[in-house]
Amino acid sequence: MALDGRFWIRGGALWRRTDVPSSASDLREGLATPIYLRRSSSAKSVTSSACCLQPLRYAVLGAGFAGLSVVWHLLESNPKELSLVIDLFDEVGIGGGASGVAGGLIHPYSPKGKLLWRGPEFWKECLKLLSVAEKENSDEDQIVWRRGIIRPATTPKNAEILKENASNLPDGFCNEFLGQDATQKLVPGLRAPYDASVYMPHAVNIHPSRYLQALFLACKNLSEETSMQIRFFKKRIKSLLELQDDYDCVIICLGAKATMLPELEGLLPLRLCRGVIAHMQLPDSAREAYEERSPSILSDAWLAAQGPRTLVMGSTWDWGSENSSPDVSPQEECRALEELIPKVVSVYPAIEKWSMAEMKGGLRAMPPLTSAGSLPLLGCVDDFVKEKGQAKYWIIGGLGARGLLYHGLLGKLTAQAVVLQDEGFLPSELISWKKLHLKPR
Ligand SMILES: Cc1cc2nc3c(=O)[nH]c(=O)nc-3n(C[C@H](O)[C@H](O)[C@H](O)COP(=O)(O)OP(=O)(O)OC[C@H]3O[C@@H](n4cnc5c(N)ncnc54)[C@H](O)[C@@H]3O)c2cc1C
Repeated sequence: MALDGRFWIRGGALWRRTDVPSSASDLREGLATPIYLRRSSSAKSVTSSACCLQPLRYAVLGAGFAGLSVVWHLLESNPKELSLVIDLFDEVGIGGGASGVAGGLIHPYSPKGKLLWRGPEFWKECLKLLSVAEKENSDEDQIVWRRGIIRPATTPKNAEILKENASNLPDGFCNEFLGQDATQKLVPGLRAPYDASVYMPHAVNIHPSRYLQALFLACKNLSEETSMQIRFFKKRIKSLLELQDDYDCVIICLGAKATMLPELEGLLPLRLCRGVIAHMQLPDSAREAYEERSPSILSDAWLAAQGPRTLVMGSTWDWGSENSSPDVSPQEECRALEELIPKVVSVYPAIEKWSMAEMKGGLRAMPPLTSAGSLPLLGCVDDFVKEKGQAKYWIIGGLGARGLLYHGLLGKLTAQAVVLQDEGFLPSELISWKKLHLKPR
């Protein structure tokens, strides 16, 4: 039975179209291998009819940007006729880690204004997921602000580089290099100390927790339209071994806390870095509200604009911290304000009239620097868990400080690799960390 262009069901198993066995002897002699045959099935069930297929069972660990993206793409790429159960685990809830406290700024450029490695693809897939969530959002509360981002130059040299890079972008990416007057028109009160800034008109900022809730709802609705099922468990996973008998596949999307799983401890080349953000509000008595259309500001510190009286200010970089709590102690709060306010004042002095409403913290998982930049970590990690060659355990990790840009494409690629049980489907740049950094136990 043909499912779609890529899959075929024969003999109670799912095959890649190119691998369908031409005869029973191919099967017996192991010349053809199905990409899905429930692992607990006996050889006998291979010859039973397609209607006896048991549902595929996937566990996705972590309900942040990475986890929800892979859930969405698994649901989307799974042939509709094939029944699938996805169990999503998170010890806190949807957006319980760094994703829930992120500033929400998204653009595909390096600090020098160049497109990042595969920036256009990351950007496209990220925007697609944002629209999926927006369609699901019936609340009046906004998820995405399409107001662009402006980056004032920080040194004369930086101004030259931003100018040159803004003029060398491919079609569809049109950053504008602005002088002080144009900068002031765009964001009244913004100082561009070197009379130069780059404006990224298509950049956006989002409300991360609303986005994640809406994306989760979209996943539930998509699963209800098909024979697929998604279940959420608020549960801490202490070890991957807990899950080994119950799932065909386990996808680890635990952010910084993937490093704390006993099976992966000491094996992931990630550095942890805590960050704190402040939600700022303009008191009713103050007049200089942030203009409705003004872009967010990216400098040594940043301001993500959510409304005329609502800004998010970030972020601190506490390297080596393992504190993943969203709660911020009074001491940490003081230190963060002492660090952030002067940085923001140097570009947006009016911030001194705003007051801090709330602070939140989260832990980033920072990947190593490669010749293509700091790239996230993908791939199959069976060798480091137990089940060699089963294509059972996968990771999406090291999203660093660009989780929003990365999550769409990473979730899509991983879902496809998982369904095809083929790590070769993933870009070599994203799996090469395994050769360099992991030594099987
Ligand atoms: C202060 C700050 C500001 C940021 N601002 C931005 C920004 O503006 N733009 C941007 O693109 N990126 C930003 N980032 C980075 C971004 O937040 C991360 O890249 C992204 O959240 C990583 O997503 P993730 O899904 O990999 O991890 P997480 O969001 O951390 O998700 C992991 C999930 O796993 C759960 N979990 C952990 N351990 C277990 C366990 N043992 N069992 C069950 N569940 C578990 C956690 O509760 C969590 O929900 C910021 C980060 C910080 C800290």
